[in-house]
Amino acid sequence: MTSRKILLIDDDRLQFRVTQAHIKSFQTDLYALDWASTYEEGIVKLLSGDYAACLLDYQLGERDGLQLIREAMAKGCRTPIVFLTAETADRVDIAAMNAGALDYLVKGEITARMIERSLRYALKLGETLEALRRLATRDQLTGLLNRREFERILIEEEERVRRFEHSLGLVMVDIDHFKRVNDTHGHMAGDVVLPEVARRVADEVRSVDRAMRYGGEELALTLVQTDRVGAIDLARRVCRAVEREPILVSDTLALNITVSAGAAAMPQDADSGPKLLNCADKALYAAKARGRNCAVGFDEI
Ligand code: GH3
Ligand code: MG
Ligand code: MG
Repeated sequence: MTSRKILLIDDDRLQFRVTQAHIKSFQTDLYALDWASTYEEGIVKLLSGDYAACLLDYQLGERDGLQLIREAMAKGCRTPIVFLTAETADRVDIAAMNAGALDYLVKGEITARMIERSLRYALKLGETLEALRRLATRDQLTGLLNRREFERILIEEEERVRRFEHSLGLVMVDIDHFKRVNDTHGHMAGDVVLPEVARRVADEVRSVDRAMRYGGEELALTLVQTDRVGAIDLARRVCRAVEREPILVSDTLALNITVSAGAAAMPQDADSGPKLLNCADKALYAAKARGRNCAVGFDEI
């Protein structure tokens, strides 16, 4: 088994040496400890996603570990954090756990066994939380965001459009004649086609963009800082990406699948998230009317 990388963020070199010795004492190659000695280095390493867990000191020069947890959480950090506090610190362990730390240890009382237990617990809890988060935010069949999560994100993006005068593109995608796939080849074939279409569609967008399963065989994409032209361009790319190659359903069955897409942008076409969804949906409907396997912008209707 390869050892799991643990990050220690602490401005004290001695603490690194002691922690290193503790970790080596309980099982030689279970964990590999890396060290960040400043707030800045720590936050960069933590957000890299390279670490299985993080041990974080309260005192970090000008700023403290509490600030670091809050900043990391705001930036979507999922790495389990164990907070290191001093006996003299006024119950910062409570604030740290409220901010998102999964456990805490009091410096000076720490033994090798305690670190091992705490890391194991934080790793286990982190995995459980991640699984729950996935269940709550993702669609099981396609792995895309579910509607509830997408609507939450849309509210955030809407706010960003207003505050920073950005634009937001939205593309709705619907599989053409999907009912025929089910009717001709069975529901199981449809269940193979749908995730593959979802994968091809989601592969066309950048990591800042989000893809969701809106309903049965209808997908939606939010495109950050994208105007009408960019949204329709992406919608066309999505159609080509799905059409490009047949989808292999089984060893003996490959299906040519196409999608239709509708595009709209905020604030050009709509002044709110729900209205934007509505505009893209109308454009999608127009694409269906124009013969399918094509993309239409709301302004072209
Ligand atoms: P159009 O080109 O107008 O979109 O035609 P369509 O047949 O794709 O549209 P329609 O809305 O009539 O049918 C959608 C079908 O999608 C019906 C439904 O059974 C199927 N569907 C929805 N969700 C799933 C799913 O999770 N798995 C499978 N296999 N089929 C699904
Ligand atoms: Mg359809
Ligand atoms: Mg549909």
